[in-house]
Amino acid sequence: MASVRTEKDGLIDGMPRDERGFWQPEGTKLPNPVFAWPPQPLEVLKWLYNYLFPWNFIYMAIATLTWLYLQPDLSQMTTFRADWILLLFVRNQVMLILIVSAWHLWLWARKSQGFQFKYTSDWSATGKRRFLWGNQLGDNIFWSCVSGGTIWTAYEVLMLWAYANGIIPYVDPRQQPVYFVLMLCAIQLWRLFHFYWVHRLLHWPPLYKAGHYLHHKNINVGPWSGLSMHPLEHILYFSCALIHWIVPSHPIHMIMNLQHAALTPAQGHAGFEAVVVKGKVNLAGASYFHQLHHRYFECNYGEPDFPFDHWFGTSHDGSPEAHTTMRAKRLARHNIQTEAA
Ligand SMILES: [Zn+2]
Ligand SMILES: [Zn+2]
Repeated sequence: MASVRTEKDGLIDGMPRDERGFWQPEGTKLPNPVFAWPPQPLEVLKWLYNYLFPWNFIYMAIATLTWLYLQPDLSQMTTFRADWILLLFVRNQVMLILIVSAWHLWLWARKSQGFQFKYTSDWSATGKRRFLWGNQLGDNIFWSCVSGGTIWTAYEVLMLWAYANGIIPYVDPRQQPVYFVLMLCAIQLWRLFHFYWVHRLLHWPPLYKAGHYLHHKNINVGPWSGLSMHPLEHILYFSCALIHWIVPSHPIHMIMNLQHAALTPAQGHAGFEAVVVKGKVNLAGASYFHQLHHRYFECNYGEPDFPFDHWFGTSHDGSPEAHTTMRAKRLARHNIQTEAA
């Protein structure tokens, strides 16, 4: 594509890159002001707007439409039967392929904006033995669909069966509309809370070696890398849905919870800070915070909306200062280990 000048900051296709081909945005997202002290009401309102619009609303809509039009009535799910389970499986695979492919085709296959806002100067790896068939894209699609799509569906089937049999607490939106809406808005926060702790656990060396290493084979990540995980990791990752065994909810909450886990990593790993359409920055892109996690491994385990990394001193905003701090910590830990040995 031809180089495009954007209105945002006058950057062109050949944006400044370091000697390894990395381009750095101005920094990562700031930690959630809801947790700031003293309180920052204006910042909180701004955060809330960005938290809800447009993505959270889009996922609420997808979950609601799924519940209304894309699955059988709950009364048909009281027993595990192949017909409805297969329907859910196919539906989820189609949804996964459509949404991840949309990101992939626009940014990586068509290269619609070239290297504009791209963090790295590489495309998907080929001829690398660490990937299935030596091909990063094929490897990522395999793990996302075969393991990710299946385990996502398995959790959904289990949960719907439990709702259908009255085993888990059910909320009727007509009787508790306020609770229903608040709960829907809180799903993404819950997901980020759960993701941080599961991810932290996955960096415990035995679990890293058993499963999480597979996701980290991707250093230069793209949309299909997001859900490219080992089955062990998928089991832990999608366990976010189990909260509905305890917290009263409607199946729409559970569907959104799982869809959010399955479908948002494509954007988070898109590899581009922003999406440019017709020469303008039209859409926020990936999570640079998580991009840095793939580059350095020992930082940014969560997302700034739940600022555990800021509280526990593992946040990295891409600045040289943050890098120096991370390296000093790594060195100190290495020294302690050497002394103990
Ligand atoms: Zn990742
Ligand atoms: Zn990790």
